[in-house]
This record gives sequence, C-alpha cells and structure tokens, in this order.
Amino acid sequence: MAPAVGQRVIVVDHPVLADRLAVLRAADTPHGAFRQALFEASAILAVEAARELPVTEVEIQTPLEPAVGHRLPPEITVVPVLRAGLGMVDGFLRLLPDARVGHLGMQRDEQDLTPRDYYERFPQELAESYVYLLDPMLATGGSAVHALDRLREAGARRLELICLVAAPEGLKALEERHADVPVWTAAVDRQLDERGYIRPGLGDAGDRVFGTE
Ligand code: URA
Repeated sequence: MAPAVGQRVIVVDHPVLADRLAVLRAADTPHGAFRQALFEASAILAVEAARELPVTEVEIQTPLEPAVGHRLPPEITVVPVLRAGLGMVDGFLRLLPDARVGHLGMQRDEQDLTPRDYYERFPQELAESYVYLLDPMLATGGSAVHALDRLREAGARRLELICLVAAPEGLKALEERHADVPVWTAAVDRQLDERGYIRPGLGDAGDRVFGTE
C-alpha cells in the first residue's frame, strides 16, 4: 500500500511578507492600513503560490527578433471566503488579472463554531481551473474544509488554500479531510483560544478589513 501523503504546508518566508504581517497583527493598525497591508501580503502569497502553475511556451516577436516566452494557464479562479477573504482578492488579481472570481459566503456560528453557508457562486469552468481558495485565518479549519467540500462538489480538482495565519488545529482538520490540498500561509501560530480565535493571531480579520470592530 502506498504510504499516506501528508499535507503540504508552505510557510512563505519573505521579509516583506513578515513586515506586512507585523502591521496586520498590531492592534493599533487602523482599518485602511490593515486593508493595504492585507492587499500587499496577498500579492506576495499570490506570487509564491503561482510559482507552481504550469506555463505554456509561446513564440513571440520582440521589436528586434523572434523569442520564446511563457504564458500562464488560461483558467485560474480565486474564491474568497466572505467576508475576510475579500480582502485578499485584489492582491491576487493584481498579479493574475485574468483570474475568474467565485464567492462563498460563510458565517461562523458563535455557539458551536461550525460554518453556515449564506451565498455561493462559482464560475462554470472549475474542473479545468487552478483554484485558489482565499481565507486569511485558518482557525478550526471548519470553514476551509466546508469550502473545499463545496468546491469539489462543484467540480474543482486543482485546489490550493491561501491563508495568512494558520492554527495547528486548522491544519490538522484540513489534513484529515483534504490532505491533497496544499496550504500556503505567512505564519503558523501557537493555538486557538476557547472562543476560536487564533493566538497570537490578529483578531477578527473580517472586522479589521471592513472597519466593523
Ligand atoms: N477568524 C478570525 O478572523 N480570526 C481568528 O482569530 C479566527 C477566526
């Protein structure tokens, strides 16, 4: 029997990303600066995650002579988990401007911390698309597991999860249910607290992006 393949967790090690994460963690960062730092951090995560996309060789004509170039695959999709994932979309689209954008609205039940769907809209071409699920906080993993379930049911096959901060508990939940989905993150934090917040974390990412604290 083939050995079980463990989860691929890529902690992106980049000084600019580390700097933006420090801005995002600081409690006194106002929502405008938080949004900007999340945009920039997401663009760095996009560059890192996109390094594994297959490219197609093309012939191009420079102003001087023919040359060989490389183009991205035509079908790339980003799917933010609402609300907080919306704060990562622009960073991805800045680098991958032709990507399609799906949406998945999920809210955490504050009693049992399980995810509840309230909106879902995906592009048609998911089966052929390279799909990046965007959710800045991988906490219990409940939302990410549920979102990946929904995307697979909709036909997606090439899935990657992009977050900013992951909790060990969330990574474990993901490994149990979607061990084949790579996780790109800026940090793996210590633990979840009794309210489901990541420690040290950065607080409620959705509230901080949208200024609704
Ligand atoms: N969601 C957040 O926004 N922050 C956490 O710490 C955990 C879940």
